[in-house]
Amino acid sequence: MKLFGTSGIRMKNLNPEIAYKIGFAVSQIAKNVVIGRDTRTTGGLIKNALITGLLNGGADITNIGIVPTPTLGFSARNYDIGIMITASHNPPEYNGIKLFNKDGTAFRPEQEKQIEEIVFNKDFKRADWNCVGSVWKDETAIKKYMDFILENVDINKNFNVVVDCANSAGCVASPYLFTDVGAHVISVNSHIDGRFIGRMPEPNEKNLYETIKMIKGLNENKNKDDKKSGRYIGIAHDGDADRMIAIDEKGRLTDFDKLLAVFSRYIVEKTNKKTIITTVDASMSIDEYLKDLDVKVIRTKVGDVAVSEALSKYNAIFGGEPSGTWIHKDVHLTPDGILSGLRILEMMEFYGKELCELIDDVPSYVNLREKIPCPDDKKMDVMNHVIENGEKIYHVIPETIDGARFSLDDGWVLIRPSGTEPYIRVRVEAKDYTVAKELLEKGIKLIKMVDE
Ligand code: MG
Repeated sequence: MKLFGTSGIRMKNLNPEIAYKIGFAVSQIAKNVVIGRDTRTTGGLIKNALITGLLNGGADITNIGIVPTPTLGFSARNYDIGIMITASHNPPEYNGIKLFNKDGTAFRPEQEKQIEEIVFNKDFKRADWNCVGSVWKDETAIKKYMDFILENVDINKNFNVVVDCANSAGCVASPYLFTDVGAHVISVNSHIDGRFIGRMPEPNEKNLYETIKMIKGLNENKNKDDKKSGRYIGIAHDGDADRMIAIDEKGRLTDFDKLLAVFSRYIVEKTNKKTIITTVDASMSIDEYLKDLDVKVIRTKVGDVAVSEALSKYNAIFGGEPSGTWIHKDVHLTPDGILSGLRILEMMEFYGKELCELIDDVPSYVNLREKIPCPDDKKMDVMNHVIENGEKIYHVIPETIDGARFSLDDGWVLIRPSGTEPYIRVRVEAKDYTVAKELLEKGIKLIKMVDE
């Protein structure tokens, strides 16, 4: 049995008994722990269970309360380990536990395995009565994080921004930071409510419908003679604000891949650092859009752990996933949706352009996706088959960093087992629809051949 999935532990109705055991297991390897949580109604319950386990094993705990994941990751530098209680973009009935290293990176799979083994082998040692841990409260963590972020952004223009925090962890920092850099901020869903009463925390078109409508209305009604301040853009977070997505002046939810491409170009032009890290599922629009700058685009496995490892390995300063999870290594190694949002303003100021103009500059391609049902115990066989036989179908040898990725002249195909559901996923991108459709159908046939 596995407790940790692709992003820590995450489940519906997370059981406090599991949280207690995780806390107890963590106390076997760390004695000085910082803990924070998002706004979910079960957050206090899970936190107290974790703390009980930690105390039982003799760890001291600093509780920093409701904070975004990037605040927790930043704070972890002063402790042995950081623990964030969040289920990120999942609905309110879910909760989760994510562990962080001192350097702000999330636990690697082998570290998670170590915790799992302690839990499953009941390898716990209780602290003696005179070594039981203590709990401290630190209400300054948010302020320290905000000061740190402000030192690392440079914004001189006064922007108009709608900030949407999904009633969750972003509320305690994001609208304030945008105000601190001189923006006129309208905050939406920015009061704390663990039921996510304003919208569900996944920042997508459906959940952001009201916010998008509001930005369109604000910009339509804006006084045309008001040349001083620009039109509104939106920055929307997920439940723990390690991600963000922008809404442009036309009221369009920006395409995640295009936003990543535009921002990557900005980083290269501003810093002259010519390596960008992204994941195997990112669009080729990033390569195309950066082509003339002679940039090396390196693709890793999906997930922020792989991105942060690659940032160090290739000495790059920026890495982003098309989900809106971006790491700015020149600042810190935890994905940070608030810093990412602020840097979008920095980018607009750098180019002296509206966000919609920048986005429209990126080429568009056809993207198709399909998921084929596949039980967990058959996923490995199917993937082996895809890797062995894919070359006959696509006439190239697949890259196998994460699943099988076939890079072709006019597009690419990624076949990957889902980490959380019983499916094999096929993603295809090409310059025109007919080619994309053909590549997708070949991929589906390749997967289904295993049953025949
Ligand atoms: Mg998140």
